[in-house]
Amino acid sequence: MCGIFGYIGNKKNAGEMILSGLKSLEYRGYDSWGVAIKKDDSQIYIEKHTGKIGDASLPAMDSSIGIGHTRWATHGGVTDANAHPHISCDKKVIVVHNGIVENYEELKKQLIKIGHTFTSETDSEVLAHQIEEFLKEEKDLHVAISKLRSQIAGMNAVIVFFPDKETFYIFKNGSPIVLGEKQNEYFVASDASAIIPYTKHVYFVEDGEMVSLNRNGISLFDSEGKNKDIDYITLSYNAEAVSRGKYPHFMLKEIYEQPTVIQNIASSQLETVKETAKRIINAYGTYLVGCGTASYACLAGTYLFSKIAKRHINFSIGSEFSYLLNFLKDTSLVIALSQSGETIDTLASVQKAKAKKAQLIALTNVLGSTLYRMADYSMLLNAGPEKAVASTKAYTAKITFLYLIAHEINRTLHEGVQNISRAVREIEGLLERKSHIQHLANRIKNKNNIFILGRGVSYAAALESALKIKEVSYMHAEGFAAGELKHGVIALIEEGTPVILFNPEDETYEDTLSAAHEVKARGAYVIGVSSRKNDVYDTFIEVKNCQDATIIPNVVIAQLMGYYLALAKGYDPDKPRNLAKSVTVK
Ligand code: GLU
Repeated sequence: MCGIFGYIGNKKNAGEMILSGLKSLEYRGYDSWGVAIKKDDSQIYIEKHTGKIGDASLPAMDSSIGIGHTRWATHGGVTDANAHPHISCDKKVIVVHNGIVENYEELKKQLIKIGHTFTSETDSEVLAHQIEEFLKEEKDLHVAISKLRSQIAGMNAVIVFFPDKETFYIFKNGSPIVLGEKQNEYFVASDASAIIPYTKHVYFVEDGEMVSLNRNGISLFDSEGKNKDIDYITLSYNAEAVSRGKYPHFMLKEIYEQPTVIQNIASSQLETVKETAKRIINAYGTYLVGCGTASYACLAGTYLFSKIAKRHINFSIGSEFSYLLNFLKDTSLVIALSQSGETIDTLASVQKAKAKKAQLIALTNVLGSTLYRMADYSMLLNAGPEKAVASTKAYTAKITFLYLIAHEINRTLHEGVQNISRAVREIEGLLERKSHIQHLANRIKNKNNIFILGRGVSYAAALESALKIKEVSYMHAEGFAAGELKHGVIALIEEGTPVILFNPEDETYEDTLSAAHEVKARGAYVIGVSSRKNDVYDTFIEVKNCQDATIIPNVVIAQLMGYYLALAKGYDPDKPRNLAKSVTVK
């Protein structure tokens, strides 16, 4: 949610760079945007708009310093005035902010009482006025920012821009901030993908740290205010990885990347798999925690661990885990799944688990993310940047890890790796036959409901599949445990209702087939996904048996279905309405 981008350097096109930085952060989700740029003639240029950046451009200007923001409104409606940046009364303090200033109401009341005029309804604007107020008593920017930090509550990431001094102060608690450096040029962004076109040399700012940055250089301070060296790291991917390349949408590109991502895990991440398996074996109870798609990967994990590893592993949704962790001990293990590593609902609850001294393992796609740094041990998905809002390759990468870990616990890792290779071949086959799925999408695009049924691990796959379809096509899709059908859901089946049925040849096969007959008898249009054809299916999508790894190609079918339904209905699958890629507010 929200994107922040800042530039200080020697180039004259800061405006252009800021706009293109904001565009590469668009995928995070936003409803308005704005920039504040100091021109070489010392004028401050501010522009703010609701809606998307689209092909907007800024007027030609020479400038080498400025900040920009894409806003995902939390406090105050989506209006031009509420868009960031926000500016103090004396125009000397400009801020962009990601997160929520939880105590903004009392600060605002106080500031209004002493004469400040607010031009927006946001919580963020208090930051600019409060700094202005501190600077009346205290000229040192560093002290003023430190004071501000001690006053505000909540998870925040902020760039404070002092245009007169051509200086940025940057701090964060919760939301991500990355710095990029390249010979006298500095970049600040919510995500490294906005920086990679300029430099791979980056630093992920830690919670509690503060950065001051101007043309003379950069200084980093730890949470106690002590100066500290910046340990830059070199990003392992390049600018192509964050572009669409030959694909019309990121979502399709990322669907296509899955065979490579999954195969890489099975060939080069086995040491990580073994280490995590060891930690699970040694733990006194393990919890899988995640939100949205990650939560469905967790649910699939519970089935995989039960069946393959004969282990009871609990699962909780990130936002619920806080209410389930009273019994955690220092011997408990929490495995938190988050593509971005910044999912606030997951972070907030695992922080509580850490306070109870539970061990934490992260399964994330982003090196240096908050979750990655918080964990005692981190597994990196190495799926490359995922830019479409709807997660595809990060989901199948998570399942691959969990599947292999379960096999390692059962001492059958070799068999697990073989099944993953089979799953990869099945995905490749599905991608070749994608026109069949596109055809089906066109056929069902005007239906009111789509149901997806499965049992066992295919139930978890059904939930994830329904979410994928909902996210991008806005169609009502529901996943159900096939056995639950007759306990209520069957009332919703009418003539022509599409029902996707995951029916791999495992212990669920016969019972799931019965569900197919039950819905068919009530008029459903049954799309059977299985290795074995049956007359009950109106349409058959063949997925060969890859044992429990069959869940992976099965979900790819729903990813493609969601993608083509979105296209058939005229929506942009990369930027679904109301959704944000990394959910950094509660
Ligand atoms: N809470 C702020 C607002 O509503 C910032 C939201 C964001 O992170 O984009 O303006």
